[in-house]
Amino acid sequence: MNLHEIQTGLAKGKFTLKTIVRNYLNTIEKNKDLNVFITLFNKGTIDRAEEIDSKTKTGKAGKLAGCIVSVKDVIAVKDKPLTCGSKILSNFISLYNATAIERLTEEDAIIIGKVNCDEFAMGSSNEHSYFGATKNPVDKERVPGGSSGASAVSVATDMCNISLGSETGGSVRQPASFCGVTGLKVTYGRISRYGLVAFASSFDSIGIFAKSNYDIAKVLEVIAGYDEKDSTSVLNPVDNYSELLNNKFKSGEIIFGYPKEYFTEGINEDILKGIQHKIELVKKAGFEVKEISLPHSEYVIQTYYILTSAEASSNLERYDGIRYGYRAGNEDSNLNDMYINTRSEGFGDEVKRRIMLGTYVLSAGYYDEYYKKAQKARRLIVKDFENAFKEVDYIITPTTPNTAFKIGEKIDNPLSMYLNDIFTASANLAGVPAISIPAGFDRNGLPFGIQIIGKKFNEAGLLRICDFL
Ligand code: GLN
Repeated sequence: MNLHEIQTGLAKGKFTLKTIVRNYLNTIEKNKDLNVFITLFNKGTIDRAEEIDSKTKTGKAGKLAGCIVSVKDVIAVKDKPLTCGSKILSNFISLYNATAIERLTEEDAIIIGKVNCDEFAMGSSNEHSYFGATKNPVDKERVPGGSSGASAVSVATDMCNISLGSETGGSVRQPASFCGVTGLKVTYGRISRYGLVAFASSFDSIGIFAKSNYDIAKVLEVIAGYDEKDSTSVLNPVDNYSELLNNKFKSGEIIFGYPKEYFTEGINEDILKGIQHKIELVKKAGFEVKEISLPHSEYVIQTYYILTSAEASSNLERYDGIRYGYRAGNEDSNLNDMYINTRSEGFGDEVKRRIMLGTYVLSAGYYDEYYKKAQKARRLIVKDFENAFKEVDYIITPTTPNTAFKIGEKIDNPLSMYLNDIFTASANLAGVPAISIPAGFDRNGLPFGIQIIGKKFNEAGLLRICDFL
């Protein structure tokens, strides 16, 4: 059932929200072995459902009554643990709500719990979590993707109908692809980052997972928009996304491009065939599809990892054992030892790797050679998109070069893990919106997605495309 069907059923009294929530909680209980939730809001959730059921009876329920949302544990929910999948914040309780959470709950969405993720959202497999790996429901020996892997799993297995994740380089789209659900990354600044724990501030955005584009549209229209608490949130008006879904594209109205650099060797054959098949469908629907070029694509991964690690090394400075969470040693430890031991014990290997890489590229001797050069490369990547969008309205690519890999397969090979972001990180470098839509299954029955990248603030277009892809 999509949200519209749920809301109609609730209004007609066919079922109650309490029953729906109970069903989700049962599903969560049955699938505990997937290791999806870090904190489950059991009791509170049922009480909230009862309250909203009474509001429904008097026609007073909010726009999102019927939305049951799991939240990646990098987004703040007041009075609940906010661990970021890290030991260093394993005992930290949030003092306030993220703006997105505030807006969701005001409209009667129910937050069902906080879900697992790679530590501080750094990873592509969910294996870098202090709370253990989350498993892919299609094949439990495989990863669900990351870093918002558990968000994707929670939606794919009907533990909820919406999940909020976060994106710095593909962390919503890649797990959406690996788990067979839809995942939207919005234009940079479209959703407030207030209450989203910072990884790389000039890249980060909140993203939305669901099975239906209608549900994503409904949630987006509530959580998007300017927020005085986030100076990078933008003033542009928020579209009425769910109504815009009724506007069907007329044949010939839009042009699609596929970047030749994204269709090279190394992509799983079944994914390639699946995407080519989708391109044929787009043509049959009456739209032009042409080859385009994003000439600086080969620099995306290097640029992304240099810049995000630099920003991360600065953002993660604040975890010093004084202000937040875990503290090593005892009252007799000297201050310096306390700092060092807290960070050595509190952070996992991947986070340490990024901090080291980040401080290195920012250090006096290497700043020009790496950080500054990467900033210039970012500008060229942005320009590639600006040029491409003069010719076409939407860009089609595979979301990932492969389907879900085995747990443990890439954990000791960071470079091969990083290469999973090869098709997704460019949209974050350029700040443009992009969506991953389920596109089929490989020969082993593992799902994969197709990615559509749009012009800034054209989230509506991306959601409308889901209808014919
Ligand atoms: N996999 C990417 C990384 O590890 C993306 C992470 C993200 O989008 N949060 O940096």
